[in-house]
Parts: sequence; C-alpha cells; structure tokens
Amino acid sequence: MAVKGRRGFLTPEMVGWDATRREYVLPKLRYAYNEMEPHIDAQTMEIHHSKHHAAYVAGLNKALGELEKIRNGEGDGSLIKHWSREIAFHGGGHVNHCLFWLTLAPTERAKDMKPGKDLAAQIDRDFGSFDRCMNEMSAAAAAVEGSGWAWLVWEPVGERLLITQMEKQQNLWMTGASPLLGVDVWEHAYYLRYQNRRADYLKAWRQVIGWTAVDELFAAARAG
Ligand code: MN
Repeated sequence: MAVKGRRGFLTPEMVGWDATRREYVLPKLRYAYNEMEPHIDAQTMEIHHSKHHAAYVAGLNKALGELEKIRNGEGDGSLIKHWSREIAFHGGGHVNHCLFWLTLAPTERAKDMKPGKDLAAQIDRDFGSFDRCMNEMSAAAAAVEGSGWAWLVWEPVGERLLITQMEKQQNLWMTGASPLLGVDVWEHAYYLRYQNRRADYLKAWRQVIGWTAVDELFAAARAG
C-alpha cells in the first residue's frame, strides 16, 4: 500500500480518486475474485465489487455533480438535502468498500498473517487479548440490525481502539475515528454462499483478513 500522497488516513489511490477527471473511479482489486475461496466465493466477490461497489461510486459522483450544479445556479436548490444525503450514503459506501477490499488478503497469504507488534500490543491493552477483540468485533457485526458494518477504529482523543457498529453505509459513525478494519454485513456480502448464516460468514471472513494492511492503517491513523 502506497503511503505517498496520504490525505489523513486515506490516499487518492486507495479510494480511486482521479485527479484529472476530478471524480472517483472504482479501484482495481489487488487479487483475483476467486482468491478468497473457500471463505468468500468468487461470484460474491465479483458481484460485490463490480456491481455493488460500482454503484456507490456512480452514486457519489452523481451527487457531487448535482451539488456542483446547484452551486453554479444550474440545479434545483431545494434538493440540496437530498444530494447531501446521497453523498453520505454513497460516499460512505465507496470508502467503506475500498477499505474492506484493502484489508482482505487471499486465503493462502492470510492464513499466516496476524497483527503486527504495535497493533497487537494496542489490542492487548484495549481488549485484553486478540481473541476478545475479534469476538467483540464478531458480536458487534452479528448484532447489526439489517444492513451495515462493524469496525475496528482508532479513537485519537482517547488514544485507543474501539469497536463500533455502522448502520447502512454511514449512520452511527463517530466523527474523528479512523477506520482500521471493517466487515460488511449487508446480505450482498455473503448471501450467495451463507444465506442467513451471518455468523458462519463472520467466521470465514476472519480467515481472510489482510493484517498487513490493517497495520499500515493503524500506523497512519496514530501518526495523524
Ligand atoms: Mn457491500
């Protein structure tokens, strides 16, 4: 993961920012759709990335464009609330998915990965142990009502890790928190293979976490 050009905890490359066109593009994945088998199936990966994530990118660009029109006196000013909500939803969805792909690793590589020394020490300090941290993460994800996420975040004021829930793509977000690791529990993330068995999907997801990327996000978040 390139650290060059970092803006806060993100880089333009991570979130597919095209500075020439001044819009977001769907970032390419660094692995093939089938590389998380058997934990996450190739068809789910392909539809999730090429259809669902692509729709968030399109929705975000559309909303940004419509707000620009309003700003230029060409749009319908009464819709500013609508387009602002669209930015929160689609922009949230876009960034969430970028981070989700970034923190997955192919099955063969992920099986030997664990948090690096600094992150492991922080996890022990804030949760007592790695297992307690991951169990809290799974419990939070399992308990999301409807569609949403669970996130491991860095909370910079208290200088600590927290696990938070997210409803949809944006609700319940704590301003100032830096996301380090998220698990998507929208049904589109798991229904083809796991149907209603979200807990089984969460166990499988834990097998394909790319901890190297989580370490880098943690280091960037702490550096501010
Ligand atoms: Mn998703």
